[in-house]
Amino acid sequence: DASEARAIVEPRIATIPDFPEPGILFRDLTPVFADGPAFHALSESLTLPFAGRFDVLAGVEARGFLLAAAGSVLAGTGVLPVRKAGKLPRKVLTEEYALEYGTAALEVHEGELPPGTRVLIVDDVLATGGTVGAAARLVERAGWEVVGVSVAIELEGLGGRAALPDGLEVYSLLQY
Ligand code: AMP
Repeated sequence: DASEARAIVEPRIATIPDFPEPGILFRDLTPVFADGPAFHALSESLTLPFAGRFDVLAGVEARGFLLAAAGSVLAGTGVLPVRKAGKLPRKVLTEEYALEYGTAALEVHEGELPPGTRVLIVDDVLATGGTVGAAARLVERAGWEVVGVSVAIELEGLGGRAALPDGLEVYSLLQY
């Protein structure tokens, strides 16, 4: 369950001050990814609150890919890579967004999933909410349904949850 997942995941999160810029306290999940039981527990914990309610996990490039891929295999669903601009070869939808540091754009292929597909958006960290907000807009514009957002870590001081659309269900395993 979630408390067991927290107990195995939290000690493996590395916290790095002033990366990639002064003032950013970076939460690094690579030690979690490197540990089999912790990676399994984290990947599973992100899908359990939405069990039976999604058809596909959408992972945001790049760390979200790892969690969405693992979670989708555990749940028996497909995975949608939400990519940084310029990577996808066919016709795309694009959404610009602001990061805690810098700006970027996310893309998905038009028509990648059938209309009405139920999509759970997954990422490592919810900070200002710009990234998953853009992913949610992409999914809606593409004609699919956002059933929720699931992240390993929510940085509560940055107000990401409040920046997301009203009524959007947001789950975080850990909060800082
Ligand atoms: P935001 O769009 O502000 O919610 O930022 C979320 C994205 O930026 C996620 O994809 C994270 O990977 C990354 N990110 C933002 N802040 C941090 C942080 N303090 N530690 C690790 N990753 C972060």
